Amino acid sequence: MEPRKHTCKSCANVFTGDYCNLCGEKVLHGADRSFKTFIHNILTAFTFADSKFLKTLWLTLSKPGFVSKEFVEGRRVNYLNPLSLFFVLNLAYFFFPVIQLFNASLNTQLLSPLGHFYKNIISSRVATMGIDFSSFSLIYNLKTVGLAKLMVMVFVVIASLPMNFLYPKRNRYFTDHIDYMVELACFNLFVNAIVLSVFASTGLGHYFNELTLTAIFITTNLYFLLRSGVAYYKEKSWKLVLKSVVMILFLKISLELYRAILFFVTIWSL
Ligand SMILES: [Zn+2]
Repeated sequence: MEPRKHTCKSCANVFTGDYCNLCGEKVLHGADRSFKTFIHNILTAFTFADSKFLKTLWLTLSKPGFVSKEFVEGRRVNYLNPLSLFFVLNLAYFFFPVIQLFNASLNTQLLSPLGHFYKNIISSRVATMGIDFSSFSLIYNLKTVGLAKLMVMVFVVIASLPMNFLYPKRNRYFTDHIDYMVELACFNLFVNAIVLSVFASTGLGHYFNELTLTAIFITTNLYFLLRSGVAYYKEKSWKLVLKSVVMILFLKISLELYRAILFFVTIWSL
């Protein structure tokens, strides 16, 4: 007996089985509309999304590089897509961006290596807008938070570029390195942006200064790069250590570049 053929309700493809092989649409049976299934669907939708989120986040923290490796090797259904994880964490961070990581207020920008150059641009802007510096700063900071939320992806792409040279043969595609950098961004959004923001608003806040924050950023990222270098790029021994240290420098450069682009986009859009 030949298996029954279905015509997909969403894309009109003809297929056998319960799921369309082109678009993934499910064939609805009478039982799918029963009240029991309805309750069951609510419960699974709720716990499933939840547990996938927590599982993927936990793996990103405990086994850096593992989820990215699973994704490029085609084992995807058990995890939340790292890009979705990225957007969820991004949303959570920018709700309350105390730690200046992917967000950069006007004061942070003025302390950057290009700060001196920015000062001139700002003073001419303040003059043409006919307002004082503190009002300008307020308008700028509101604008830049909104833009930074969208532009974190720019950091991800810039930071992934050196991986093409550090690990040229380990992953064939340009986008494999971007996928990897999405995981690194998730790690940083959670550890160095969200968790640190929470700590900063408690009594521990006064321990945070330029030096301690830099030490935390370097230590945590070195942990991520070393662990994921093994898991994702199959690198080992002194080469792994060397490449990870080089990558720490590139992360710093990428962050500065990203912030410079953010500055000009913010100024331009005011
Ligand atoms: Zn279909």
